[in-house]
Amino acid sequence: MNLSKTRVVIVGAGQAGGRAAEALRAAGHTGPIALLGEEAHLPYERPQLSKAILLDHEPNPAFIRSAQDWAEIDVTLCTSSRVVAADIERREIGLEDGRQFAFDQLLLATGTHPRRMPELEAGPLPVRYLRCMDDALALRNALQPGKKVVLVGGGVIGLEVASAAIARGCHVTVLEKAATVLPQIGSPTLSRYAETLHAGKGVNIVCGASIKCSAADGVELEDGTIITADIVLVGIGVEASVDLAHALGLRTLHGIKVNASGATDIDGIHAAGDVAEQWSRCHDRWIRLENWANAQNQAISTAKNIAGEATVYDAPPWFWSDQYDANIQIVGHPGGGDEIVRGDVANGRFTTLSVRDHEVVGGIAVNSAREMSVLRRLVASRKTVRRSDLENPQFELKRTLA
Ligand SMILES: Cc1cc2nc3c(=O)[nH]c(=O)nc-3n(C[C@H](O)[C@H](O)[C@H](O)COP(=O)(O)OP(=O)(O)OC[C@H]3O[C@@H](n4cnc5c(N)ncnc54)[C@H](O)[C@@H]3O)c2cc1C
Repeated sequence: MNLSKTRVVIVGAGQAGGRAAEALRAAGHTGPIALLGEEAHLPYERPQLSKAILLDHEPNPAFIRSAQDWAEIDVTLCTSSRVVAADIERREIGLEDGRQFAFDQLLLATGTHPRRMPELEAGPLPVRYLRCMDDALALRNALQPGKKVVLVGGGVIGLEVASAAIARGCHVTVLEKAATVLPQIGSPTLSRYAETLHAGKGVNIVCGASIKCSAADGVELEDGTIITADIVLVGIGVEASVDLAHALGLRTLHGIKVNASGATDIDGIHAAGDVAEQWSRCHDRWIRLENWANAQNQAISTAKNIAGEATVYDAPPWFWSDQYDANIQIVGHPGGGDEIVRGDVANGRFTTLSVRDHEVVGGIAVNSAREMSVLRRLVASRKTVRRSDLENPQFELKRTLA
């Protein structure tokens, strides 16, 4: 089969789907490409939802391309088009409105949806989640000065919203079940730094919080404490959107398992972005990555493979978060080994390195973008390092790359 002429259908018109469609054309694919998404908006990147959309003077959503630009590269973009059926024998998918698309190659880029909290949803206060543009625009309207905001979950989303809510003059409480904020990242140093940063801005952080239910005027904890709230936003993680994968006969655990080319176990079916579960050398396990860099680069790499260009995607995971004036960047698995801290945590300019068997498998750079560019190369290089070098504040990190 001439791969460059095959019919490609991409389900999910988010960042991964959009970037894959562009990359297919860039790789010389001349066959039809359909990009199908259930949202009404043109494809967009989500980091703006917890940052610029909430913070800027005017909300100014940014889209990956205009409708005209999609037409110019001959991608059939269908928004407000939810795919509800998939037939592997006929190699066809079906939309909610009855339309059908036949494919030779199918890319599942269906992303994730927020993990819900039924114990709060049953109560009188509306519960918000933050995943799509409409969620962000509605949240922005609600974040008025003086409002009491309760954020359930002290992960990256919760803390970014905390920072935006403080900037908009709200009173903020973060309720985190674990003993520290940012527990998923696995760096005690970063968790302590973030707690101090947010407390210093006036955020009330409650760790070890066990939520019982929603009360008339707030959230009730198991110990009977009531945290009063006008706005409750739950950010307790996401789950992969795998219904179509199941309809196609793919088995999933946390996401759709793919190899380093983005291929699933079924010939001609691929997955990319947040929904894909891939092997992470840094984590030493299968993992779903939920970040911008993976949604872009793993999708591009998978698209090249669909177009017939054999590529392998094995970049260490990398993401960033902006909270107040702090830029936090994370590579690999910061909790995957012994943590070495360099720089000045109290002054908010530091890096951490996670060392496992003489190899740096992850790290964090706070307000230290230049150090992060070295760290990313170091983690990717798998070079052998000496702990004593890394612990020496005079030792320049870039010397590890020599
Ligand atoms: C608020 C927020 C802030 C973030 N900030 C950062 C950050 O600062 N740095 C960073 O690295 N990462 C950040 N991320 C993560 C990053 O945005 C995601 O990793 C990325 O969006 C994943 O892209 P994706 O295309 O795989 O999935 P998604 O963006 O989830 O897109 C999947 C799309 O598929 C659609 N879809 C699903 N099922 C169907 C179906 N059956 N039919 C049709 N369409 C369907 C969905 O509606 C969705 O539009 C943030 C995420 C959020 C939510």
